[in-house]
Amino acid sequence: MMTMNLRASLACLLVSCSIWQATASAADDDGKLRIVVFGAHPDDAQYKAGGTAAKWAKLGHHVKLVSVTNGDIGHWQSAGGPLAQRRLAEVKKADALIGATTEVLDIHDGELMPTLENRQRFIRIIRRWQADIVIAHRPWDYHPDHRYVGVLMQDAAFMVTVPFMCPDVPALKKNPVFLYSSDGFKKPYPFEADIAVSVDDVFDLKLTAIHEMPSQHYEGGANGSAEHLAQVPPATDETGRKAWLRERWVKRQTGEDDRFRDALKKWYGPEQGSAVRYAEAFEICEYGRQPTDDEIRSLFPFFP
Ligand SMILES: [Zn+2]
Repeated sequence: MMTMNLRASLACLLVSCSIWQATASAADDDGKLRIVVFGAHPDDAQYKAGGTAAKWAKLGHHVKLVSVTNGDIGHWQSAGGPLAQRRLAEVKKADALIGATTEVLDIHDGELMPTLENRQRFIRIIRRWQADIVIAHRPWDYHPDHRYVGVLMQDAAFMVTVPFMCPDVPALKKNPVFLYSSDGFKKPYPFEADIAVSVDDVFDLKLTAIHEMPSQHYEGGANGSAEHLAQVPPATDETGRKAWLRERWVKRQTGEDDRFRDALKKWYGPEQGSAVRYAEAFEICEYGRQPTDDEIRSLFPFFP
């Protein structure tokens, strides 16, 4: 049963989300790229595409990072409205460092469903952002919310171009390029890195952004514990905490690089591609526009 406090907090959250959304939805045609990244929880888009987002943002392109749920059960010690508000504040700080716009939908964590209503939400967000590129999880990820974000992106692809689908927001003239973010799952088929981006030059910035989400790292998120907390330097030791975070992410992203090595060599050439340490990779979804290699180079203007 929800207490009055929780209800009040959720109402506040709803208001703050809609103000944020209204600010971010003014799409101006300045010739820059427009990218929207959907993650299931307030941290997924930043993990999977935070480095690439920072690279786009540095060049003046417009990136929105969306959390499709509010993350309100993503902690082992707290939940509900207060946690959702805390996580909204965390991603806002992280996204400000990345140079991206934040949107957090007020859908309960762990309860996302691929409904018609949510399909329409995706369509409207993609259209309002006038997206050239849309990124989301694959629909074969470990968490039901991740899987349904993948399904909802697939369901929005093509439909964003159909005028009488959600006619309250004008349809896109051109189907965006839809991309999956990377994962390690193998069934029904492993992630295929069609595009791999070196994030070596923004790796420190990505870590600084991730540092702003302590509920998920230093405190352990949904599967945290007293044992986990005991291993992490305390909040008073910021240098120690950042070193702890860096060690974990170096391990995590170095492992990923070797999986993406062929794609790195394709886009950066054999020599430069072999030297990349940290990368983010994307797979082209068959339901969106199918870009040529030349078009991929114009959408990812970081390749040599
Ligand atoms: Zn997640």
